[in-house]
Amino acid sequence: MDALLKVVTRFAPSPSGGLHIGGARTALYNFLYAKRHGGKFLVRLEDTNKDASFAGSDSVEVNIASILDDLRWLGITSDGVASLQSESIARHVAIARRLVEKGQAYYCYDSVARVDKASAVMASKARSTTKANASACGVFRSPWRDFAGDSGKRSAPVDVRPVVRLKVPLAGSITISDAVKGEVTLPHEQIDDFVLLRSDGTPTYMLSVVADDYASGITHIIRGDDHFTNSFRQRALYRACCAAGIFSSARAEPNCAHIPLVLGEDGGKLSKRKGSRSIGSFRDAGVLPEALVNFILRLGWGKGDLEIFSLADAQNLFDLDGLSRATARISYARLDNLNGFYLRELDLADLQSRLTPFLPSDASELARARFLKGVEGLRKRATSLQDIVSLGDFYFAAPSLPLRDSKALAALQPSSAGESGDIYVNLQRLRASFALIPSSDWHGDKITSAIRAVASAEGLGFGAVARPVRALCAGRMDSPDLGEILGILGRDETISRIANLPRS
Ligand code: GLU
Repeated sequence: MDALLKVVTRFAPSPSGGLHIGGARTALYNFLYAKRHGGKFLVRLEDTNKDASFAGSDSVEVNIASILDDLRWLGITSDGVASLQSESIARHVAIARRLVEKGQAYYCYDSVARVDKASAVMASKARSTTKANASACGVFRSPWRDFAGDSGKRSAPVDVRPVVRLKVPLAGSITISDAVKGEVTLPHEQIDDFVLLRSDGTPTYMLSVVADDYASGITHIIRGDDHFTNSFRQRALYRACCAAGIFSSARAEPNCAHIPLVLGEDGGKLSKRKGSRSIGSFRDAGVLPEALVNFILRLGWGKGDLEIFSLADAQNLFDLDGLSRATARISYARLDNLNGFYLRELDLADLQSRLTPFLPSDASELARARFLKGVEGLRKRATSLQDIVSLGDFYFAAPSLPLRDSKALAALQPSSAGESGDIYVNLQRLRASFALIPSSDWHGDKITSAIRAVASAEGLGFGAVARPVRALCAGRMDSPDLGEILGILGRDETISRIANLPRS
């Protein structure tokens, strides 16, 4: 791609839903490409196509607000305020009318359904011919294409509101040099005279997107490869606008990169219906934006064997050469690993403040303070903010018996070989010994020495006494260092928790 161009990229979501992984990846790549080249990244909400794709969706305004929130949360910020495509409809319509005036488009009085049917018949004929002849069959062209108005044998029906179709040249071809797909050529005869203005006078997506990309000086379009076939139609329209003098031919046509789809964990297409998760749902589950950005970045782009990228690193490194030609498959286990990594990297105070919205709303000040002290130990084994809170649930309340964790439950059962001694008696001794430690001395070393002393007096190993204590105080065996937990809980709370074991 031309390094001298002032790069302008865009993310142009249709607000028929919220932001999902695929859209976020498109936004991220466009953002990074612009930043890497000192250019501009724009966000344009394509809110014009209010037909099938918007049916049953939440209100468009709600979707727009949530897309913008999610982008902001990920750190993908647009240069300037996001624009609404609907605000430029008059300009799009004017372009279509001018194309008609200049002979690059025409009014078609055939219904779209009839044209679609004729096109389908032609396509099926093409399929039944040999491959070589198939391309020669081309696409259906409306008889209104060459209608000269009042000079022909028939006249335009007065009771039909026409659509405006692009008059795609019959000869020649369009070659697109795509950064991912390489150079692909499509003969004009394979490109239909697609609709620019519907019979109600509203512009189609195909017209609006080309008009807006031109108006905002977009130099590079990075998007999903489901749009690749559209590119040829859009290029045909772009050239018609140049031929009609609406666009300047001196300006280079936008470069493009069509990236392969992201597939779900099962290798199937990610769709809203099939559990594609919105960006907001990751945030609500306690995924850090740093981790999600890193995860999304690697779904289709790479640089050597590097795995960890901050947004700032990626802005310095992102290039189109690193885009993968293969479809990317989601692995949520990978996201967990990345999130765990970033959770451990965060500055502790920062992590504590990010945890605040996840704390139980009815937690007392004391419980909150205990939990926040325990975060350092908890984060070592967690994969999300929510996970840290559930792993540390015992800081908010004593685990209730019977315990949920089967290993913790087992730790409270009398051992058949007697290697734990009499658990009840051991705990009673421990309570007495804990009570002798002044609260000012209540910390890890003192606590573990007391446990060790009770164990060795009984001729038992440390774990034989420590395990039941862990079960009663934390309710789960995969918990942080015992001395640390008990130190944070405090002497009196510890004593009352270990008094919970009923005599069996
Ligand atoms: N609005 C289109 C979509 O959400 C994208 C248009 C484009 O990137 O050209 O799929």
